[in-house]
Amino acid sequence: MKTPLKKQPVASPLEELLTFDNRFVHELPGDPETENRPRQVARSCYSRVLPRPAAQPELVACAHEVAELIGLPKEACNTKEFVQVFAGNRLLPGMDPYAACYGGHQFGSWAGQLGDGRAINLGEVVNQRGERWTLQLKGAGPTPYSRQADGLAVLRSSVREFLCSEAMHHLGVPTTRALSLALTGEKVVRDMFYDGNRKEEPGAVVCRVAPSFIRFGNFEIFAARQNTDLLRQLADYTIRTDFPHLGEPSTAAYRAWFEEVCRRTAEMIVHWMRVGFVHGVMNTDNMSVLGLTIDYGPYGWLENYDPDWTPNTTDASGRRYRFGNQPQIAWWNLAQLANAVHPLIEDTEFLQRALDSYGEVYRNGWQKMMSSKLGFFSFDPDTDQELVEELEKILKLTETDMTLFFRNLARVKEDGTATDEELIAPLMEAYYHPEELTDEVRERTCRWLRSYLSRARREGVPDVERRRKMDAANPRYVLRNYLAQLAIDKAEVGDYSLVKTLQDVLRRPYDEQSGREEFARKRPEWARHRAGCSMLSCSS
Ligand code: AMP
Ligand code: MG
Repeated sequence: MKTPLKKQPVASPLEELLTFDNRFVHELPGDPETENRPRQVARSCYSRVLPRPAAQPELVACAHEVAELIGLPKEACNTKEFVQVFAGNRLLPGMDPYAACYGGHQFGSWAGQLGDGRAINLGEVVNQRGERWTLQLKGAGPTPYSRQADGLAVLRSSVREFLCSEAMHHLGVPTTRALSLALTGEKVVRDMFYDGNRKEEPGAVVCRVAPSFIRFGNFEIFAARQNTDLLRQLADYTIRTDFPHLGEPSTAAYRAWFEEVCRRTAEMIVHWMRVGFVHGVMNTDNMSVLGLTIDYGPYGWLENYDPDWTPNTTDASGRRYRFGNQPQIAWWNLAQLANAVHPLIEDTEFLQRALDSYGEVYRNGWQKMMSSKLGFFSFDPDTDQELVEELEKILKLTETDMTLFFRNLARVKEDGTATDEELIAPLMEAYYHPEELTDEVRERTCRWLRSYLSRARREGVPDVERRRKMDAANPRYVLRNYLAQLAIDKAEVGDYSLVKTLQDVLRRPYDEQSGREEFARKRPEWARHRAGCSMLSCSS
């Protein structure tokens, strides 16, 4: 494959608004070879590569709050130039596009070199507050890391990435952001379930935004290649750029950095468990060293509470990345990172302790998070451990929507005279088969509700106060799998209204939004077995 013609930067208003300082390419060694063909790239952190121009770019959606983050006013998103730039058709002066080299453990095995196979970093913008934001196009064509694949992305997966990145942010979950979603005007062939059914789908590009896209795998690749020099250069760069509070790079700084990656990862996973998010492909190349949720592929949201659920059909047999396994997998991934940075830290016991600290931070964070979901000030191990264990059993007795259950639990009241029916009434909306609630399930649930309410009373706060606290931890709106699919169905026939409505609803996930109740509803029956709603593959 030949490199496309070098694009001439075009002077423009966007150029005047964006200030680029591309530290990653300036400070780290790049690939001396310039040919854009799939290959092993040795001794380099990145390869320069240009986005492939889109035939007929069309903006589907844009997040003006992300535009503002990088220094663009809202209005800039509606210009022709904006779509040209963020679909990959135009380079602005100051951009210096590249694909990063990384490796990774996929589904538990070392996979060797992976890299940005369909992501092209345009450059790093420094905004007026001095914050650094990397702009990255996903789906803008092949790179030296594309292996057998085409470097492209389809509308369906791009809608999912765009909406979920922003939904997660507004839920308070650390995540990469999404600036824009554009159609390329070209068709991309995909075999959605790897079953021989190839289909043409609309091609799309998402512009992702994050302080940095560095993954565990960026370190792993140099460790695997026994290139300690590059490993150190990357660590030094990361500390100076993204962890400046740790001071100048040194063995002490490397240690503090690794501990911080453990802590941030634990905090991110606690959030996932709070909101019912299942990443679906927690390979080490999909783990950010900043503790951001990254790479929205076959992710999903728990509907009925089932810790064994994974949306990813590619992982259906082992269910490695099921909801309840995420805390454990994050630890395993950190252990791979520990092995990778061992040459810098050279202290196995220290690394082991840091990994242990992940468990501690996770446990404490989880207890705090659970208390907030239940409306308690703090977790009282004497009573709350048992209370939560019984709750998890209750949620599994009959299909129970996790999001609705917790949200409506704040609305359960007891004045001393409530019948079981009155007590459980606010929760009925959460049951997928309310008609199938047996007396036994009802009684056990009510017994739990009474002990929960008596525990809640010990907090000494009125019900309205408890509800206020719980509503800040338990969202009303999440990006339900079927909602994303409905938005995709419409977008594929040229109607982007639902993408925009969902984006807007999910800006305020903790608020009751009158007139928008339909977006809080549990999964309808038709979506139970529909592709895209409950089953997703890595094909995107
Ligand atoms: P993922 O599981 O989506 O995180 O991707 C794993 C690896 O495959 C990464 O190196 C991606 O860049 C690469 N990859 C995934 N899809 C494509 C594609 N369509 N073209 C090129 N590379 C891809
Ligand atoms: Mg990935």
